[in-house]
Amino acid sequence: MNHANGIEAEYEALLQFLYLAPVGLVQMTPDGGVTIMNPLAAQLLMPLSRDGGLDNLFRVLEPVAPELRNLAESFTADSGTICDSLRVQLTAGIPGRVDPRMLSVSLLRLDAARTMAVLTDITVAVKRERQLRQSEAWFNAVLNDVTDYALMALDTAGRIEIWNPGIARLTGYDAARVTGQSLALFHAPGAITPERIADRLHEADCNGWSLDEGWCVRADGSRFWASTMIAPLTGIDDEPNGQTEEARGYALIIRDISDRRDNAERLLRESECDHLTGIANRRKFFQVAELELQRWNRAPRPLALLVIDADHFKRINDTWGHAAGDAVLRNLARTLTSSLRDIDAVARIGGEEFAALLPSTDLADAMNLAQRLCDAVAAQRVDIGDSSIGYTVSIGVAVMHKGIAGLDLLLREADAGLYSAKRAGRNRIAHAAPTLENA
Ligand code: GH3
Ligand code: MG
Ligand code: MG
Repeated sequence: MNHANGIEAEYEALLQFLYLAPVGLVQMTPDGGVTIMNPLAAQLLMPLSRDGGLDNLFRVLEPVAPELRNLAESFTADSGTICDSLRVQLTAGIPGRVDPRMLSVSLLRLDAARTMAVLTDITVAVKRERQLRQSEAWFNAVLNDVTDYALMALDTAGRIEIWNPGIARLTGYDAARVTGQSLALFHAPGAITPERIADRLHEADCNGWSLDEGWCVRADGSRFWASTMIAPLTGIDDEPNGQTEEARGYALIIRDISDRRDNAERLLRESECDHLTGIANRRKFFQVAELELQRWNRAPRPLALLVIDADHFKRINDTWGHAAGDAVLRNLARTLTSSLRDIDAVARIGGEEFAALLPSTDLADAMNLAQRLCDAVAAQRVDIGDSSIGYTVSIGVAVMHKGIAGLDLLLREADAGLYSAKRAGRNRIAHAAPTLENA
């Protein structure tokens, strides 16, 4: 075999390789000018070409992968990998209907004059990945601490088509009643809008699922805390260019997760509530008060604090017993909460000491309110077995002003007022005027 024949044979083999290679291959100059391209590469790239030409790879891929040219330009070595398996999305796809076409691009610098591009259609692989993630999410949704669940198939508009028996168990609706209904059926009137449902279907199309937690309503009007998961139902198409797939609507799983929520709520309540009286504890009070003071610092407006202390409480315990003392404390907590507004923060901050933080309340209003509380307590009696006992409280009043740096100082001023009230004979209220340097 002479030299020319050798080259010809080698070229022939190369062409054959290029034709048969299961990947797109492009040989080009460092700036992307195409010198050789195999048919598969041409087939993959043609949809991107605006003028039917494929003479420069970077120009063809510019709209979908502008970074390729930069990567190649900033690659300074004579040979080596410029980029490896870079994912490029060729088409947007239609959520739930047509998958986006995905291309994997690797660029190899062979020598100073030649760069090779390896193009692989990874549309199907990417779709498989997504389906796998989706099944995983489904699996978790179905298996994780399920109390009960209802499974439904929705049409493309989100109306219920098919259901499992769980739907009756969980929601109290029978099959005939749910057919053709929208998800709104399981929510309180006005709690979910058609727009919100459309958003969730769209979210499911884009991500493979949409997960949400909230109140659902049964046929009899009772509520349960539910997790709802929506996932698109699509045919699985093994065609490499599986773009003909039709959306077949959605699957919906409603799970009753009331137990989980009850537990979380109970833990929260326990950490924030006083066991004896059921109102907020000291910890919760400080949390709320700190927030209120931060608001005051941003935008000062009237803010008052009352510190309420039972008078001669030790004597009540000693005379009537500890249980009677407890009953008095519960009575005091009730009297306070029923006399104050919802926005007021009332808490038991000590043994027989309570506090109330009153937003939008100036000194005059706070003094009035404190006096009314004081009078109300003194006017009532607490039933203890066959007898009933009366008790009184003293109240210290303080209002927020510029001289007060934090909650501690505000409490200290209210305590000073409380001390004056006790010294002046109890069953009364007092405001300690701010010290001169603080005023
Ligand atoms: P003053 O009028 O000066 O406030 O006198 P006081 O007796 O109310 O005050 P003191 O601080 O001397 O006593 C408070 C008592 O409150 C002492 C404590 O045993 C009692 N106490 C604290 N926590 C509880 C409770 O949860 N239940 C009952 N029954 N008593 C409590
Ligand atoms: Mg006391
Ligand atoms: Mg006390």
